Amino acid sequence: MEVTVLGSGSAYPGPLRGASAVALRLEHGETWIFDCGEGTQTQLMKSRTKTGKISKIFVSHLHGDHVYGLPGLLCTLSLNCSSAPGQQGQCLEIFGPVGLRLYLRVALRVCSSELMFPFTVHELEPTSDQSPPAGLPDPDLTACSPPPHPQERPGRTLRPDPESDLYPLLQDERVSVSAFRLFHRVPSFGFCVQERDRPGRLRVELLKQLGVKPGPLYGRVKNGLSVRLEDGRVLGAGEGVEPGVRGRRVCVLGDCSGLVGEGGRRACQGADLLVHEATLEDGLREQAEERGHSTPSGAAALARDCAVHTLLLTHFSQRYKPAGGPGGAGSQGGGVTWGGRGRRAGAEETGGTRPAGNRHPRRTGRRLPRLTCSPPKTPPTPS
Ligand SMILES: [Zn+2]
Repeated sequence: MEVTVLGSGSAYPGPLRGASAVALRLEHGETWIFDCGEGTQTQLMKSRTKTGKISKIFVSHLHGDHVYGLPGLLCTLSLNCSSAPGQQGQCLEIFGPVGLRLYLRVALRVCSSELMFPFTVHELEPTSDQSPPAGLPDPDLTACSPPPHPQERPGRTLRPDPESDLYPLLQDERVSVSAFRLFHRVPSFGFCVQERDRPGRLRVELLKQLGVKPGPLYGRVKNGLSVRLEDGRVLGAGEGVEPGVRGRRVCVLGDCSGLVGEGGRRACQGADLLVHEATLEDGLREQAEERGHSTPSGAAALARDCAVHTLLLTHFSQRYKPAGGPGGAGSQGGGVTWGGRGRRAGAEETGGTRPAGNRHPRRTGRRLPRLTCSPPKTPPTPS
C-alpha cells in the first residue's frame, strides 16, 4: 500500500498546494483516488501515480474543492483509454454522497463529454444529523433525474448497516472498504480500507530438508495443519510456514468537525494510517468548528483515542504556506507519500506526527511503512 497526498489545500488549488485529493496504490496494483479537487489530474501527472491504474474514486462530500476535478479527470482518463465505446472495458466505480450522480450527469452532458469507458456511481445516503439542516441535500435538486450518460451503468444506493453503523461499500478476497458518517456543513463521509490478513509463506527450504514433497502435504502445511513425515517424525502445526501478515488499515476522512455515530470510531480503531483534515490551527478551534472543520489537536485526539499508528494531516487553509517553500516537501509538487519503498523522511513537513518507532505494537517481525517524501518529477512553478 502506498498513499500519496496529491492535494493538501482547502478551498482552492494554489501554486503550492493542490486541492483535496489522495491516491492509494494497493498491493495488487490498482490505484484508488479519494476526493478529486480542481487540478487533481495535474497533480497526478507530477506524481508517480499511473492514471491507467485508477479503478475506483471515492468522494467524501460535494463541496467544490473535493469534486471540481472529477469530470475533467474522467475526460482525461478517457483520452488515455484504449477501449472503444461499447466494448467491454473495465467499469470505473465512483462512490460518494447522494447528489454525485446528478452532478456528473449534468457536467458531462452540458459539456458533451464522451467517455471511452463505462462507469457507475454508487451513492451513500446521509442521515439528517450529518450537517446543519441547510446543508442537507435539496430534495428538489436530488429529485431531478437527467438521463444517464451513455457510458453510465446502474449504481447502488448505500445505507449504513444498523449494527455496525458502517456503509459496506465493497469487499473481495484482498480488501474491504466501508464508509462512515462525519459532521460537516454538508454531509461528509470517511472511508476505511482494510487489507485482509495474509497467510504466511511456506518454508520451502525447511520442507525440502525434511523430505516433504510438493503436493497435497504442502497444502496441509500451508493451512497450518500438522504433517507426519515418512520417517515417522511429526511437523507441528504452523512449523512449516512463516508468520502470517496482518492486513493494514487506512482511513481517509473528508472534511469534518467530528464523527457521527459509532461507525467512525469502529473503523479508525487501530488504523495504520489516518488521513485527517486540519483546516485551521489550534488557536482558531472555535472558528474551525463553526465551519465544520478540525484543528491538528482535534485530529490528534481522535488518532490517540483510536490507537492509530500514524496520523497524516491535510486540507490546510491556504493561509498556511508549505514548509520548505516552492518545491519543498510540503508543497505537493510530487506528493507526500506513506508506505511503498521510497526514500525516507520525517513526517513533520505535512504536519503529521512522527511514528514513535518502526514497529507497530500489533505486529512483530515486519517493518512498518513510514511517511516518505518523493521529490516531484518537475518542480512546481510558483505563479
Ligand atoms: Zn467541505
